Amino acid sequence: MLLPIQTGQDNPILRQKSKEVKEITAEIKRLALDMTETMEVKDGLGLAAPQVSQLLRIIVVKPEPEQKSLILINPEIKKISRKKDVMVEGCLSLPNVEVPVERAVKITVQALDFNGQKIKIKAKGLLARVIQHEVDHLEGILIVDKRA
Ligand SMILES: [Zn+2]
Repeated sequence: MLLPIQTGQDNPILRQKSKEVKEITAEIKRLALDMTETMEVKDGLGLAAPQVSQLLRIIVVKPEPEQKSLILINPEIKKISRKKDVMVEGCLSLPNVEVPVERAVKITVQALDFNGQKIKIKAKGLLARVIQHEVDHLEGILIVDKRA
């Protein structure tokens, strides 16, 4: 099901800290799948639950068209490279806004997958950037806060 996306840099829903997912219930799985569908239909590279009005620590990412969408529940960035770079980013919640943002080029992220298995991913390049962007959403941080 397509979910409506919250927009606006002063939107209170987008400015709150999201809560940890305690149990991966059928509702959580439904939400993760609906988020995936919404991201794909809207041609986003990623989407975080607060963008669809749920203050829960769930993100979905798909930085490359041929890549399978990735669902990350309770993602935690465990390591970030000292090396950073700057790229212009957009956001489905900020239509027509583009901001240069500095991010680490490599990260290690730990999360639960769709089945509740603990996973650890070493990401670099665009995937690393998109994950950092989406994890920021879980803290109420938007790209307009991070203009490089
Ligand atoms: Zn965003």
